[in-house]
Amino acid sequence: MEFDVKNIREDFPILKKQINGKQLIYFDNAATSQTPTCVINSISNYYNNYNSNIHRGVHSLSEEATEAYEESREKLRKHFNAKHKEEIIFTSGTTHSINIVSNGFLNLLDENDEIIVSGLEHHSNIVPWQMMCNKTKSKLKVIPLDKNGELDLKKFKRLISEKTKLVFLNHVSNALGIINPIEEIIKISHHYDAIVLVDGAQSAAHFKIDLQKLNVDFFTASAHKLCGPTGVGLLYGKKELLEKIEPFMGGGEMISDVTFDKTTYADIPHKFEAGTPNISGVIAFGVAIDYMNNIGFEKIRDYEDKLLTYATKKLKEIDDLIIYGDVKNKTSVISFNLTGLHSYDVGSILDKFGVAVRTGQHCAQPIMDHFNIPGTVRVSLSFINTFKEIDILYEAIVKAKSMLS
Ligand code: PMP
Repeated sequence: MEFDVKNIREDFPILKKQINGKQLIYFDNAATSQTPTCVINSISNYYNNYNSNIHRGVHSLSEEATEAYEESREKLRKHFNAKHKEEIIFTSGTTHSINIVSNGFLNLLDENDEIIVSGLEHHSNIVPWQMMCNKTKSKLKVIPLDKNGELDLKKFKRLISEKTKLVFLNHVSNALGIINPIEEIIKISHHYDAIVLVDGAQSAAHFKIDLQKLNVDFFTASAHKLCGPTGVGLLYGKKELLEKIEPFMGGGEMISDVTFDKTTYADIPHKFEAGTPNISGVIAFGVAIDYMNNIGFEKIRDYEDKLLTYATKKLKEIDDLIIYGDVKNKTSVISFNLTGLHSYDVGSILDKFGVAVRTGQHCAQPIMDHFNIPGTVRVSLSFINTFKEIDILYEAIVKAKSMLS
């Protein structure tokens, strides 16, 4: 059956918006996805009908909010196929999730230990580990990229050893859309007893992920890239690892017993959820996952692949347009430059035509350094986009090129 994009677009009120007198064409889905009405309604329903703090009150409103919040945890457990509900920790997003893990290992590493990061990371999966290495004196090693931007697995095999304690990488690069061979990296890492964290900020929106099948140790995602609200995300960790690492945020809700001499922590997941969380956001995250599952992740992926193939072919028709990370194993992102033109200037002109793209380094400066460029124009596609929008993008790039040359 045809992918019913026309009907799906009706679910997204923002798509009716005009920008600079033109119909909005939203190609910045990797930065944040747009929000369907059911998710927006879920947030207003919470504030209109059962706004209350969770896990503390005996009153009905608090019970209703707690139930909805915990129901969302179960929805996400089921969606990602985690074994236990308490392995799903709600956070403010991928950045927060990674910081929980990096801080959690502060007492477990020292100068004899090594950790490995891929060269294809967002700053969120670099800086927290650098901070951790500075504190623990452990060594940070980097999996280099080949000339196309893919991870060099041969070099990874040479980097890893018994000294490696942690390996962390993203599933899909936000800057280039390249899909990393995480299955192979997890297997190799486990052979050396290294723990693997996969940053799923980009992949979770495009594929159905089975955490038990992947056998990954930690996994992160952000709701705002999955049709959900901003300021919410999750950290998945295997139970025994979450139980082993220390929380880095202390406060209410995460404790079992507090005296001025000593505090004992609550069990997982609460140990990592200090303070009042984004309750409406967590509940809306569950609604967003239901929404995407109702469409179907396989259908989403299939349609997005078709969009990517079409857009890549079309953009390649433009002279002097260079695509970075133009490899077979990628999803939903085209990162490009027009020779001699700055990405920011190209992006500003596209905005005049109502086309929203992201320009610059995409929080991934090492990747830009690898290609020796200051930045790119990034077109990031989603199942809400159409082939017609790609035609308009093509025309707008051609016009931008002639205006700027
Ligand atoms: N990792 C990747 C691959 C990302 O694309 C992003 C968001 N651009 C992040 C981490 C950070 O996510 P958040 O800002 O939601 O914490």
